Amino acid sequence: MPSIVVIGAGVSGLTSALLLAKRKETAVTVVAKHMPGDYDIEYTSPWAGANVLPMSIDADSRWERRTWPELKRLAGEVPEAGVHFQSLLSHRRPQDEGGKLSDALFAEDPWYATMFDDYQILDKEKLPPGIKFGAEFTSVCINTAIYLPWLVSQCLAHGVVFRRAVLRHVSEAATMSQKGSGPRADIIINATGLLACRLGGVMDPDVFPVRGQIVVVRNEVTPMIAPSGTDDGDDELLYTMTRAAGGGTILGGTYQKGNWDPNPDPNIAVRIMRRAVEAQPQLTGGKGIEGLDIIRHGVGLRPGRTGGVRIERELIDGTWVVHNYGHASWGYQGSYGCAERVVELVNDISSEREARPLHMQA
Ligand code: FAD
Repeated sequence: MPSIVVIGAGVSGLTSALLLAKRKETAVTVVAKHMPGDYDIEYTSPWAGANVLPMSIDADSRWERRTWPELKRLAGEVPEAGVHFQSLLSHRRPQDEGGKLSDALFAEDPWYATMFDDYQILDKEKLPPGIKFGAEFTSVCINTAIYLPWLVSQCLAHGVVFRRAVLRHVSEAATMSQKGSGPRADIIINATGLLACRLGGVMDPDVFPVRGQIVVVRNEVTPMIAPSGTDDGDDELLYTMTRAAGGGTILGGTYQKGNWDPNPDPNIAVRIMRRAVEAQPQLTGGKGIEGLDIIRHGVGLRPGRTGGVRIERELIDGTWVVHNYGHASWGYQGSYGCAERVVELVNDISSEREARPLHMQA
C-alpha cells in the first residue's frame, strides 16, 4: 500500500490528506506542529474569515474555479461542515486605480461572472456616494472553528492517522508514516504554509508573512462587504463576514507585507471597527462602535510568496516531495483545486514508479 505523509494540518494539508485518502489503497499520515483547535501565530488557517472572493485574474486558473463547486455543495448539503451561503457586495473605488484594483474581485467583466449562479452588476443609482462600480453575488462564509475539525473528522473516517511533531527537516517525515504501511513513506506532501521559509530542505526565501489583523464580534450583519480600499492607508482593508452557526462576525482588516507582529495593534483595531460600522451601521443598530460586542482581537499571518503558490514535485534525499504552500489570501477558496493538483502529481509519481524495474526504484 503506498504510504504518504502530509506535513501540515492547515486547510491545505487537511484538504490534500482528505483527497489522497480517498484514493484506493493509500495510507495517509498527517504530521503537524499545530492542529485544529490551536490558535497560534505560526498557524494561519484558524484566523481566516473565511469566504470566497475571487482573486485570480487568470481566467484559466483552476484553483478557485475547481474549489467553488465543492464549497457550494458543502454549504447546500452538509450543514455540519460549518459553511453557509452569504451574499457578497464588492465595490470598486476610483481612488484605488493602479494597484489595488488588480484583484479579479473588482474587475468589471470578471471570469467568475458565470461561475456564480446570481452574479449581477449593480445599478449606478444604487451605489453609495463615490463608488463607480459594484457587483453582488451569493458566496459562502466558512466558520473555520467548525470547518477545520470537520476536515479532520472526514480524514479520520477515511483512515488518516494524525501525529503531532515538529520537523526540523522535510525528510524527517519519511520515517513518520503510519504503522503497517512500510518502513518509509513513499511520498511526502509539504503543506507547511508560512513555515516553509524555515523548514530544513525547503527554506523557501520567497515566502513572507502578510499580516492580517481582525476583530471578531457577536454582532451579525449581511451582506458581506469588500470595497477595493480604505482611506486609512494602502495596507488597511475593510471587510465584514458573518460566520455560520453562531461563529460571530469577522471585521477586517489589514494586508501588511513582511510584518511578523503577532500582537493586535489597538489603534488599528479601532480603525477596523470604525470602518465596519460606518459602512454597515446596522451592525450595531446605529449605536456606533460602542455597540460592538467583542469576542476577541486577532492576528493571522497569510503565507505570501513571491511568484505565487508552489505546487510542484521535488526529489529530496531520495524521496519525492510534493509542495503545496504559499496560498496568501486564498487558501480556503483554492483548497480543493490545489489538493486535486497534489493528487495528480502523486498519481504521476506512482505511475512512473510502477513502470520502472524494481531495482531502479527510489
Ligand atoms: P497553515 O494553516 O499555516 O498550516 C500550516 C501547517 O503546517 C500547520 O499545521 C503547522 O503546524 C504545520 N507546520 C509548519 N511547519 C511545520 C514543521 N516544521 N513541523 C511540523 N508541522 C509544521 N483565505 C480564503 O480563502 N478566504 C478568506 O476569506 C481568507 N481570509 C483570511 C483572513 C485572514 C485574517 C488571514 C490571516 C488569512 C485569510 N485567508 C483566507 C488565507 C488563508 O487563511 C490561508 O491561505 C490558509 O489558511 C493557509 O493554509 P495552510 O494550510 O497553507 O497553512
